[in-house]
Amino acid sequence: MTPGQTGGTEYDARIRRSERLSAQHEFAHEFLDFYKHVASFQKTLRANINSFGAETPSGPLGAVVRDPLDLTVLLPHFRGFLSLIEQKAPGALAKSARQMSLLSSDSWIASLEAYWKLAGVYDQQVGAFGQFLPRAFLQPYAEFRAEHVARAPLVVTARTCPLCGARPLLGVLRLEGDGGKRFLMCSFCLQEWEFRRILCPTCGEEAEGKLPVYIAEQLPHLRVEACETCKFYIRSVDLTKDGHAVPLVDDLAAIPLTLWAHEHGYSRLQPNLLGT
Ligand SMILES: [Zn+2]
Ligand SMILES: [Zn+2]
Repeated sequence: MTPGQTGGTEYDARIRRSERLSAQHEFAHEFLDFYKHVASFQKTLRANINSFGAETPSGPLGAVVRDPLDLTVLLPHFRGFLSLIEQKAPGALAKSARQMSLLSSDSWIASLEAYWKLAGVYDQQVGAFGQFLPRAFLQPYAEFRAEHVARAPLVVTARTCPLCGARPLLGVLRLEGDGGKRFLMCSFCLQEWEFRRILCPTCGEEAEGKLPVYIAEQLPHLRVEACETCKFYIRSVDLTKDGHAVPLVDDLAAIPLTLWAHEHGYSRLQPNLLGT
């Protein structure tokens, strides 16, 4: 499958999964319905990027994920994106999309470029939705770039994305041999890399007794993998328990886990698109 083809089918899978989870879990309904609109926009944007970008990342070493944005491809879609968010998002976010739409295109570019350079690397805990606008808009472009990068085999267990340097968003457990193997999914370019199962991706703690796991009754394939040493946690999607899960989307439904982690004093290493 070529990268051009991957984009569309992955977005379709995300959209279908958000519909399914939304029907099953009342508590996640609002978030997932909103996400579905975002993913539909991203799918269209990704198709545009594919058609424009076919020859972009072909230097001798392949593209580097965070090379400068191609604004001629992206910018014509930003106003439409802002108006979609204004119509479909929860109140505070709709308002920030409205405010952004009133700014000059120079301000848009500054906001997109700042996110592109620093996201997942230097951004500290910002509030819910803090990065939503540039993040949701640029996600298809980050995925596109990352899919075109030549990958070297990993020789060490990396705590940040080997392609773009961002912190992980999620753990993903996939069936391999007799058990599950853990991968981390990048919060910026959404690619995965392999990671040891008993190891804190924030501080490097490896004592099993200091790494408790919490699973909510309603969503048995989703886990909080916490660390007593640094008090951070990473959320994991266990595909050995539910092979239909789409990690990026199932994570958005995991509201009971967010509440549990908060009550127990754990912070999430990197929040998801909706800031939870
Ligand atoms: Zn990455
Ligand atoms: Zn830790």
